[in-house]
Amino acid sequence: MELTTPMYELFRDSRSGNRIFIKRDDLLPFSLGGNKVRIAQAFFDDMRKKNCDVMIGYGNVRSNLCRVLANRCFQEHIPCYIICSHGEQEDAETQTGNSRLMELLGAVLVPCSRDRIAEKVDAVMEGLAGQGHRPYYIYGNRLGRGNEGVAAGAYAAAYREILSQSEELNVAFDSIFLPSGTGATQSGLICGHLLNGDSTKIIGISVSRDRERGTEILREGVQSYFCLHGLALPADADSQICLEDGYRKGGYGCFDDEILSCIRRVFQQYGIPLDPTYTGKGFLGMMQYLEEHQITGENILFLHTGGAPLFYDMLNAGLLRPSV
Ligand SMILES: *Cc1c(COP(=O)(O)O)cnc(C)c1O
Repeated sequence: MELTTPMYELFRDSRSGNRIFIKRDDLLPFSLGGNKVRIAQAFFDDMRKKNCDVMIGYGNVRSNLCRVLANRCFQEHIPCYIICSHGEQEDAETQTGNSRLMELLGAVLVPCSRDRIAEKVDAVMEGLAGQGHRPYYIYGNRLGRGNEGVAAGAYAAAYREILSQSEELNVAFDSIFLPSGTGATQSGLICGHLLNGDSTKIIGISVSRDRERGTEILREGVQSYFCLHGLALPADADSQICLEDGYRKGGYGCFDDEILSCIRRVFQQYGIPLDPTYTGKGFLGMMQYLEEHQITGENILFLHTGGAPLFYDMLNAGLLRPSV
């Protein structure tokens, strides 16, 4: 699969003089695109490398990762189980664009409350092993240990693509912004940046975790990648981890009118779909960060991480109305 996605200048802000570029990973040509196309591929390759024959993913009914995993597995005739968590307000019956697509792709959705994940992972793994399978759980074992550094590989590689595109465009990026959730994408970009030794700042707009916890997870992600590949971790690695938690709007999946009007504006003006959970939050967070930090005259890259089904969930819920 050809993985190079479009990168171009979105606009130049005449007041600040900042030039805002965008990289359209939402247009990756598989399963409605998004960062999870690259990340699912990294897990899929790792599954093959470890000679496993069943995929087990984990996520909620809105998970873009689980959709793409299910699609790759369908394509390759690999059985796919998705341990599907749900919040207190939702039940196992909640349906979304992504959950419907997972079903369409033949994934077995195993409902699970958020405090029972380890037991559920064990039960599914043991059940499959008992049938003679070699199951692969994307996060390793029941405690999420064993596959550290795998997911970061996806965006460590994508960073090289960003570098060659920035050369083609003849711009050096002062910073790269992205919405950050599990941290797989951001830790990968940080690894790519450390390996290249450039001065670009990678700034994650947290969509869920607070800065302290999120930074710790990013640090682990970066360290694991270097460890997995037998590379020496640069001494300044920690100082390159930058996660902003001031734009979360209350936490994962929470959003407000400000996010919705940002999404409306970006779609009307540029024809680009954003969603309220990740990319809308990330884009608005970036714009507010630039304002609050009085950044001027810089070249800024926004990484569009996808999430098309979430755009339609929002649209179909009637949340995106014309402004009055
Ligand atoms: C998963 C996801 C993110 C966050 O990426 P992480 O690697 O989990 O930090 C951002 N945007 C979209 C659309 C996603 O699906």
